[in-house]
Amino acid sequence: MYNQTAFALGSNRSCIRELFEYGRRRAAVVGDENIFDYSLGNPSIPAPREVEQTIKDILADTDPVQIHGYTSAVGDLQTRVAIAEDLNRRYQAGVKPENLFMGCGAAPELVAVFRALAVPGAEILAIAPYFPEYKPFVEGAGATFKVVAPDVPDFQVNLSEVEKNLTENTVAIIVNSPNNPSGTVYTAETLTALAELLKKKSAQFGHPIYIVADEPYRELTYGGVETPFIPCIYPDTIVCYSYSKALSLPGERIGYIYVPENATDSGSLYAAVAGAARASGHVCAPSMWQKVIARCTHLRPDLQAYDRNRQALYDGLTDAGYETARPDGAFYLFVKAPGGDAKAFSDRAKEKDLLVVPGDDFGCPGYFRLCYCVSHDKILRSLPIFAALMEEYK
Ligand code: PLP
Repeated sequence: MYNQTAFALGSNRSCIRELFEYGRRRAAVVGDENIFDYSLGNPSIPAPREVEQTIKDILADTDPVQIHGYTSAVGDLQTRVAIAEDLNRRYQAGVKPENLFMGCGAAPELVAVFRALAVPGAEILAIAPYFPEYKPFVEGAGATFKVVAPDVPDFQVNLSEVEKNLTENTVAIIVNSPNNPSGTVYTAETLTALAELLKKKSAQFGHPIYIVADEPYRELTYGGVETPFIPCIYPDTIVCYSYSKALSLPGERIGYIYVPENATDSGSLYAAVAGAARASGHVCAPSMWQKVIARCTHLRPDLQAYDRNRQALYDGLTDAGYETARPDGAFYLFVKAPGGDAKAFSDRAKEKDLLVVPGDDFGCPGYFRLCYCVSHDKILRSLPIFAALMEEYK
């Protein structure tokens, strides 16, 4: 006997994984250079060189038992002090180490936060287009997952749609900016307007509606655009941060949860998050990586390669007649599918060894996602294929 929901999740691959696996199989036949795989969001730039040196320094100057030993359940104090100092330097945010919980990347951090908020009947909102894993995370926590319709074509936040979905059972809304899959960065105006609405509704319902800020892409922005730090706009925000994308360390599983001191019920909320993490067996994030982060909070990604890809792809696709939102952040482009059926477009592209993910799983049919973590040469060689596909629809 086993749990049927868990079985369904484990036996059905996501559409992204299906495409990625297909791409690997096809590459074995036609050669890797002939497959244009835009499916998976796996960083393609290396971690900064300083990370490697820091690992060597730690191995040389730290007691080996301590390097590999358990840290405190909520994370090493030195690491939390370093992160608090960095956030305060950048955002004047008043972060204290006791507001931080070291986690194993955004995914388990989100799970802990949803479990912490999941009172009976709780509803948690996601804004389309959204990261598909939110649904199993929220439902696995025992809450109801609700989708806010997208703000087409800019992919900011459709406030009247948010308002329609807010009920007295709403405990949180997930905000992911820079956004996967749209690549948009929510502006300070968007976030301020959202904060005003949530404050009004929290007062009306007599309990806080938290923002759960999912921020693996916070530092991945281009052309001078910056990601506003949401707790400075709306204190009832719980941040789930990850070093997976910003430092290209997705396999190392390291990040943190931040519960602001001035959030409603901050101390109890932090304890509930820590308790939920404990109940999921998610404590003591990898010890060596905590030590690395303590010495590397000042590092930022070198985004030149992504930016070059972003511009080439954006210019090439718009020249060919595709419509897409402004890709100011992350490493994705979200493009309107010619013909309106993204699944059909993806299948047609697949026949030309071009792998693009239909937007249906992101709560946004009619669009497809491109992850531009690929070589620049492949971007350039794929543009004529995109152009030829567009011609077929004319
Ligand atoms: N949230 C979003 C929007 C993501 O795109 C991802 C990974 O792709 C995650 C969370 C999970 O990231 P992590 O590696 O930190 O668990």
